[in-house]
Amino acid sequence: MYNEIFERIKKYNNIVIARHIGVDPDAMASAVGLKKSILATFPDKHVYAIGNGSARFNFMGHLDKGYDFDQIDDILLIITDTPDSKRVDKEELTHYEESIKIDHHPFMEKFCDIEHIDPTISSASELVYDLVENTDLVMNKDVAETLFAGIVGDTNRFLFGNSIDKTFSVVSQMVSKYNIDITKIYHNLYNRPLTEVNFFGYMATNMAATENGLGYIKINKDIVSEYKVDPSQSGNLINEFNNIQEFLVWVTATEDDKNKVIRVSARSRGPVINKTLEKYNGGGHAMASGAKLATFDEVDKLLADLDELCKKYKEESDNNEN
Ligand code: AMP
Repeated sequence: MYNEIFERIKKYNNIVIARHIGVDPDAMASAVGLKKSILATFPDKHVYAIGNGSARFNFMGHLDKGYDFDQIDDILLIITDTPDSKRVDKEELTHYEESIKIDHHPFMEKFCDIEHIDPTISSASELVYDLVENTDLVMNKDVAETLFAGIVGDTNRFLFGNSIDKTFSVVSQMVSKYNIDITKIYHNLYNRPLTEVNFFGYMATNMAATENGLGYIKINKDIVSEYKVDPSQSGNLINEFNNIQEFLVWVTATEDDKNKVIRVSARSRGPVINKTLEKYNGGGHAMASGAKLATFDEVDKLLADLDELCKKYKEESDNNEN
């Protein structure tokens, strides 16, 4: 599979790399890291990492804006970190010759010519590292540091169960062979404004829990503007609630007034939640999912479903113990 991917990269002069909407560290790192590696290997190729970015991730590199891809022939499209075609952030790209998917989400649908999917791997960034190390693509300190940021993002600093022996051996190589600067990367990823910490204070104070172990908070647009934050920030803060004894599943639902949606992020330390989120046009990983809903009424229905899921999970766990 890696050779097939490498041969396609070798063949095309124009390569566009896209990833999922709602960029996060792994989406950004897997796309930009792959772009850097391809350019280090083939400096004359035209490689574009596209999609809407976030200023928070500028330290990894910049996205390519303003290109008219209709004027470019022979494009290879590579999509990282995205299981379904509807979530690919590639509005500006309407045509391409061949496509490749590199992803670690549970399979949702086939939409690329070549698909390399491994849900046992921590992150799309780790898959890109593996691809580079197992082909003639070039790895260097910059590529390794970018991919490390993606691995750290999706494993939440190696706290999640998706950090397996392979993840640590990849990171060990990143340190020993490429001398990555971990302190610098952590600073870039976790440096944050006081407004965000104040907003976290609001969330921590107002998070509620059901008796079945569902933690949740609904945040309307007035709170978002009072705390002078971006509505995406509550989703970024959800991992701060990882070790709350009362929560099996926890959810943030934040009104995004500009885009007229409610952004939902959900995490679990037991029940599999992605199938429930898929029912609401969202999705993600077994223990980390998201969705965009139209109203708080829909959010309430989702919360009721997740509460039921927690209840069943608890009953099954109790039965197994007896
Ligand atoms: P987040 O809570 O935004 O960090 O997302 C956690 C996981 O859920 C990631 O794997 C996302 O790709 C996925 N995800 C987030 N939002 C959506 C959505 N609207 N539809 C499908 N998957 C999503």
